[in-house]
Amino acid sequence: MNAAVIDGKFHAAALRTRLAEETARYKSEHGLVPGLATVLVGDDPASEVYVRNKNKTAEAIGFKSVHRRLPGTAAEAEVLAEVRALNADNSVHGILVQLPLPKQIREEAMLDTLDPAKDVDALTPTNAGLLLGGRAKLVSCTPAGVMILLKATLGEIAGMDALVIGRSLLFGKPAAQLLLAANATVTMAHSKTRDLPALARRADILVAAIGRPLFVKGDWVKPGATVIDVGINRVDAGEGKAKLVGDVDYDEAAKVAGYITPVPGGVGAMTIICLMRNTLIAAASQRGLPSPNV
Ligand code: NAP
Repeated sequence: MNAAVIDGKFHAAALRTRLAEETARYKSEHGLVPGLATVLVGDDPASEVYVRNKNKTAEAIGFKSVHRRLPGTAAEAEVLAEVRALNADNSVHGILVQLPLPKQIREEAMLDTLDPAKDVDALTPTNAGLLLGGRAKLVSCTPAGVMILLKATLGEIAGMDALVIGRSLLFGKPAAQLLLAANATVTMAHSKTRDLPALARRADILVAAIGRPLFVKGDWVKPGATVIDVGINRVDAGEGKAKLVGDVDYDEAAKVAGYITPVPGGVGAMTIICLMRNTLIAAASQRGLPSPNV
């Protein structure tokens, strides 16, 4: 058996088109131009690429895009002052502070300062709590993207056994909450979990967000299961070149699974576009308008 590939780029492009249409509609009907602000502290090359892509995508969809840059030596108070200024700016509806931050700046202090209504990464305690209560407007981008892919691929997932490997605040915890809200029976695994392969073999939906290249092997996969690979790992491809691989051994798992996401071109393709979706949702909500149809 060979798994059907879940094409993240296709689903991301479809969502991008709907977002651009909805953005144009809010602009013409309500004079609303969603604003996304990115804050980059320091000059980490990977973070620079991520932030540039976010700004480019925002502009292509029709948003206003604002970029604030602070030196890697900036004091915590300077970063918090920048976040407060963006909180107070009515033309900015979403604020993304690129993580990780330099070590002199506490991530918690930044998240406690960020206005939850503008927290388009959905990392503040308020948005994490709303998700727990099933009332979240803004949902962490990568887990939201995974749910879009699962619903498009499987339709109803009620009653399915889902295993999420990884329990980060950024992905594992919100992903488990969303799967639970969709009535899957959810197990969360982490580095202290015993006999992970046996747990994985029970899963109808196997989600890997570990950060270890090719960690999940083909014989961990239940035949016909849906495998969602969140991992992005840069590995040596020989001749001085690097390539990206996921947390799942794709070649092995694809022989057993029913559906599988590739890396790249799977989950990763959805993340930026879900950030744009959150920005549009946040903008409509801050203006007291109905939620967008996306
Ligand atoms: P993280 O914060 O480092 O969390 C990794 C999780 O994996 C932890 O919960 C850890 O368990 C668990 N883990 C580590 N070793 C394990 C093992 N041997 N067995 C079972 N569990 C193990 O990572 P993250 O931020 O969630 O990211 C995970 C991966 O997803 C990374 O490759 C990252 O690049 C990728 N990612 C991709 C996107 C995207 O846009 N596609 C977005 C976010 C993340 P403990 O809690 O016990 O330490």
